[in-house]
Amino acid sequence: MNDTVKYLLDETRIPKAWYNIQADLPRPAPAVLHPGTMKPVGPDDLAPLFPMALIQQEVSLEREIEIPDPVRDVYKQWRVTPLYRARRLERVLQTPARIYYKYEGVSPAGSHKPNTAVAQAFYNREAGVRKLVTETGAGQWGSSLAFAGSLFGIDVQVFMVRVSYDQKPYRRALMETYGARCVASPSSETQSGRDILAKRADHPGSLGIAISEAVEVAAQRDDTKYALGSVLNHVLLHQTVIGIEAQAQLELANDYPDVIVGCTGGGSNFAGIVFPFLGAQLRGGRKIRVVAVEPAACPSLTRGKYAYDFGDTAHLTPLTKMHTLGSTFTPPGFHAGGLRYHGMAPLVSHLQELGLITSTAYHQTACFEAGVQFARAEGIVPAPEANHAVRGAIDEAIKCREEGVSRAILFNLCGHGHFDMQAYIDYFGGKLKDLDYDQAELAMALAGLPSVPEPA
Ligand SMILES: *Cc1c(COP(=O)(O)O)cnc(C)c1O
Repeated sequence: MNDTVKYLLDETRIPKAWYNIQADLPRPAPAVLHPGTMKPVGPDDLAPLFPMALIQQEVSLEREIEIPDPVRDVYKQWRVTPLYRARRLERVLQTPARIYYKYEGVSPAGSHKPNTAVAQAFYNREAGVRKLVTETGAGQWGSSLAFAGSLFGIDVQVFMVRVSYDQKPYRRALMETYGARCVASPSSETQSGRDILAKRADHPGSLGIAISEAVEVAAQRDDTKYALGSVLNHVLLHQTVIGIEAQAQLELANDYPDVIVGCTGGGSNFAGIVFPFLGAQLRGGRKIRVVAVEPAACPSLTRGKYAYDFGDTAHLTPLTKMHTLGSTFTPPGFHAGGLRYHGMAPLVSHLQELGLITSTAYHQTACFEAGVQFARAEGIVPAPEANHAVRGAIDEAIKCREEGVSRAILFNLCGHGHFDMQAYIDYFGGKLKDLDYDQAELAMALAGLPSVPEPA
């Protein structure tokens, strides 16, 4: 039997359009509100931060949005990404399940993030932007935007969450190799950063704080804009190339997923693999079960409140309705830095409210255990974030064994862990702790949610 089964498509099969799930929703997601007026934001409110092309994608109801040729040309370097059938893992698990994974680690930055970084850099350059400012957690997004900026001749400045800055020096080096400037956040370069440092000089940082710093810098100059690596509708949209390709590849495999599993930080890689399949379901196609997997230490979908909240800690962003742990919540410094965001993409949150997806949370050692089992069977070392999806998929496969049924399980292997080997060293050394979020801090952060009048 051929052990490695890889479903490859040539570059002519790179999707020509992204899929916009907003066209197929049974109910539209709640509006984004201006925190001053509590009225829906308009394009002009967002214009200081984003180019108009991306603002239009944010609110578009078109089902398909054409991928510009210069973006497809860059995608050709690593897309179509492979879809594998995990036969060896199936054997190790003695499961009748058919496990498939889409591997996004083949991009230059090693994750799914360049799918949107390249698109965002392109639209910003078209709008004459010279500099992009952003935040990064584990460094995956920062290095992806640094890569994209280098291709399109845009300067990139990255505020990197302090704990990851210290834990992951190689990611910082990668950003600098691509020509970006990387600053530990909270920093003394912004008012938001200085305010935090005044209260706690050794603050470990959070994505919420780093976003405040980046937004603050971007809003100061016309030729400088902000870029976000997850959460927003246009980011989720760009990631749908993952699911669209997977649909064609599963057709080659003559199969269709019963279950799709993805890990969720802000929700973008999950949306990327899931939305095209959910869209097909919403248009009358086959029903799938969808599982979002998040860390127990930062459980926005499973423990957060579905409420209007700010996207950042200093409250510089608009209000979006999402599952949130509160914008002042600082998750403990666990190793899946890319999953440490206090909120969840509004579209992913909305789908959970509609009952179209489910979510579950795992502690980090259970995820690393799954990641190691996966690496020993399939050869690829997953990123710590991706280990959450691996855990979820393995548990689905075990369920199949226990129930004696064969289901097709598809999961997104959103990145490799080559820059995260310190996390594996810590795991093997028994140093990884199963952190829980601080109940009191969560209660306090939730009590601080902005009060928003219910729409009439
Ligand atoms: C950034 C990142 C995540 C989390 O972000 P999402 O928007 O939820 O996808 C997960 N995995 C990897 C490898 C990442 O780089």
